[in-house]
Amino acid sequence: MIIKDIKWNENGLIPAIVQDAKTKEVLMLAYMNEEALEKTLETKSSWFYSRSRKELWNKGETSGNTQKVVEIALDCDKDTILLKVLPNGPACHTGEVSCFFNEKEIFEETVDREILFKEYDMIKNRAENPIEGSYTNYLLKEGVDKICKKIGEESAETIIGAKNNSKEELIYEASDLLYHLNVLLYNQGVTLDDIMTEITNRYK
Ligand code: AMP
Ligand code: ZN
Ligand code: ZN
Ligand code: ZN
Repeated sequence: MIIKDIKWNENGLIPAIVQDAKTKEVLMLAYMNEEALEKTLETKSSWFYSRSRKELWNKGETSGNTQKVVEIALDCDKDTILLKVLPNGPACHTGEVSCFFNEKEIFEETVDREILFKEYDMIKNRAENPIEGSYTNYLLKEGVDKICKKIGEESAETIIGAKNNSKEELIYEASDLLYHLNVLLYNQGVTLDDIMTEITNRYK
């Protein structure tokens, strides 16, 4: 197994990078000793060794923000662990999702590929906490017929954008279409994970 290959540091520890298995976001870094790794393998919940308190801790034992471990990997020279987890809440003790929330030095803006999922979450959030004048709330209140009618319209506009050879128009209308599709999926109790699972299965 993984454990006998590990190159422990001079203190018998190995750094473990914790990553969200779904979003791929880097959540935190902590250290494991052999016992922490054994307990992690045994419970499939993340365990670390606190260098300050000199004791084992099960992530989430007091906060409830446990991490379900779905994969453990070692790096090339076997001195770093990568823990892929499904978090039950924020990884940071401050309540932030990730520990890496401090002021950033950004050299280049990159596209957020999670944005469709975030849009879906926004729709869910609107449904649960309606806002006066919200178009999403209006659509959800009108229901499936109205949402489907909008999808018809946005599909037609997307087609027109393509036929006009207008990239700009296509991008705009396809964004409208995806938003309304997201609203329909939410309205029907289907998640984007359901769609991703279906697509993933097609490529197996
Ligand atoms: P928790 O494991 O979330 O119940 O938090 C228990 C204790 O573990 C906290 O009081 C912190 O001392 C420590 N802790 C929790 N999360 C982190 C983290 N991401 N990085 C460093 N220390 C943490
Ligand atoms: Zn290494
Ligand atoms: Zn933190
Ligand atoms: Zn449109």
